[in-house]
Amino acid sequence: MQFRDLQIQYKHIRNAVDKNIQSVISSAHFISGSEVKKLEQTLASYVGVKHCISCANGTDAISVALLSHGVGAGDAVFVPDFTFFSSGECPATIGATPVFVDVEKDTYNIDPLSLESAVEKIISEGQLKPRAVVAVDLFGQPFDVPAIRAICDKFGLLLLEDAAQGFGGSYKDSTGKVHMACSLGDIATTSFFPAKPLGCYGDGGAIFTNDDGIALLCRSIAVHGKDTQNLNDPNAKYNNIRLGMNSRLDTLQAGVLLGKFDVFRDEELNKVNRVANHYSELLSDVEGLGLPTVQEAMYSSWAQYTVQLPEQPSDNEQIEYRKRVQTQLKADGIPTNIYYIKPMHLQGAFEGTRSADAECQTTEKLCSTVLCLPIHPYLEYREVEFIAEKLKAAL
Ligand SMILES: *Cc1c(COP(=O)(O)O)cnc(C)c1O
Repeated sequence: MQFRDLQIQYKHIRNAVDKNIQSVISSAHFISGSEVKKLEQTLASYVGVKHCISCANGTDAISVALLSHGVGAGDAVFVPDFTFFSSGECPATIGATPVFVDVEKDTYNIDPLSLESAVEKIISEGQLKPRAVVAVDLFGQPFDVPAIRAICDKFGLLLLEDAAQGFGGSYKDSTGKVHMACSLGDIATTSFFPAKPLGCYGDGGAIFTNDDGIALLCRSIAVHGKDTQNLNDPNAKYNNIRLGMNSRLDTLQAGVLLGKFDVFRDEELNKVNRVANHYSELLSDVEGLGLPTVQEAMYSSWAQYTVQLPEQPSDNEQIEYRKRVQTQLKADGIPTNIYYIKPMHLQGAFEGTRSADAECQTTEKLCSTVLCLPIHPYLEYREVEFIAEKLKAAL
């Protein structure tokens, strides 16, 4: 059994993927080939946003999105303490200061109360300018859109949705209108890393925005600061009007993603939701086990199925207990992972900086209790049953 079985997936999508790969190789347009543009149009229309700008990975996507809004030195960017490193790494690498904010125990997403008090603290310290929030759709579930939007409006903050794990999820507003992940912020980013909900066969990422000017700026920053005002001029790409980076999605990856997309949209999202529901049904009666909660307004793309193991008397015993559970499951042939093992504010990269200063008790607790179980659209019911049974035995 695999944690996320990409080989089984390949069996289902082989024809479309192979055909697209072959066609890219035949065309020899390996960079900026026609598949890249087609993918951007397909994804923008699916998400319901005017522009999709593909790039090399989900990390670059966050940096480019922040740079396109002029975020930089002297700015505070609020980031959940419980997330993948990139969410906080990118603001820091472009010169801003990530300020880490606690998450909610049941959804794992950024906590509005903790966000508001972190913003107020930065204002009262008077050193940094509150500038942006990186709202992560952790494990596939969109962040608390109305609550976080209200705080961003109140303090004039840019809302960046980090949907690296959330692509395919959605949020239903109070009027019943459905908004897709990657359309939930002022700007949004995603990743096509192979294990993400929509993954390619290497690295890839994208940025989504409704703003024509920001879209052009992102395209410029992603390709060496090229002149995007005169796109019809074939020499414009050698006219570098700002400093940028080299961050493109290659044509082969666009071909792979186009080959996967219909099955992702029409089948895989339903299937992975069924797997998650089966887990929750089978595990609901386990004393002390915390199950992932999806809010009523949210639809998750289930990048991970993350449980919280029953509480143990001390931190040390908690860590040892999880190790024993993992070892037992491994002996049963069940792979598990720990996302995430360390709060962002305690990462060595932030030692001695303002970013290390954070009040995030829920995150600290989660880092010692969470355990991620295998999940992907092709996990069969009998496998879910087997995992649930072995987990119960191990506990
Ligand atoms: C994976 C991930 C990223 C980074 O994406 P890459 O394509 O690996 O660079 C950023 N944010 C979150 C929340 C992620 O899970």
